[in-house]
Amino acid sequence: MNSGQTLLINLLIIISILISGVIPQSILISGNRKVAKDDVVYCNSWKFSVEANDAGSWKQVPERCLEFVKNYVTGDQYVSDSGLVAYDSLEFAKTVEIRGDGKDVWIFDIDETLLSNLPYYAEHGFGTEIFNDIAFNQWVDSAECPAIPASLKLYNELRRLGFTIILLTGRDEHQRSSTIKNLLIAGYSGYQSLILREPSDHGKIAEVYKSEKRKELENEGYRIHGNSGDQWSDLFGAPTATRSFKLPNPMYYIA
Ligand SMILES: [Mg+2]
Repeated sequence: MNSGQTLLINLLIIISILISGVIPQSILISGNRKVAKDDVVYCNSWKFSVEANDAGSWKQVPERCLEFVKNYVTGDQYVSDSGLVAYDSLEFAKTVEIRGDGKDVWIFDIDETLLSNLPYYAEHGFGTEIFNDIAFNQWVDSAECPAIPASLKLYNELRRLGFTIILLTGRDEHQRSSTIKNLLIAGYSGYQSLILREPSDHGKIAEVYKSEKRKELENEGYRIHGNSGDQWSDLFGAPTATRSFKLPNPMYYIA
């Protein structure tokens, strides 16, 4: 073997080592299907399962998906996904006839819908840790949640179109002042009302609590055209909005 051939062989070995470090090695072929075995493929499937609500109730992000969820919620894909949700929402909103009586409503949830708790979750394992309500409530009281940019843009577009904006959140009534402060700092103004859990709402699952509030709004003559939330419990339950829009959230689940 001459020196040229040796160099070529060495080069091929180096290239194969580099490639093996980039391409997942744990994809098995079963029949003619690829079976997801590596974490990225598995965690993509897991994310689909929780976003589609196929998984039902779940308590923690699987440990093996920590890096995946972290990369997703802090990366371009979350920006793109939330941007497309806002785009779809606005396309529908443009088809709604606004009557001008102030009764044409769009409902927004707050956490992971208008405001992001990402700074908190970055310090608490991106959903891999069991929820700590004391630490989370301290974070909420700090009023430091940033806006989700696509949602802020949608919010302002809906106001410009003439929608009455109502905020319906699972936060407690005693968090009203910190919530109003945070919304203002993040750029949200001009909403008609902010509905929080009163003592009589304690103990109700989110779907029941939010459905009851939507029913009250309808009884007051409001027409609920759109509803935006990161949890299915923001959107399920009668009466529903004409169109419901689910934002991505692979960090936690609220029944
Ligand atoms: Mg939420």
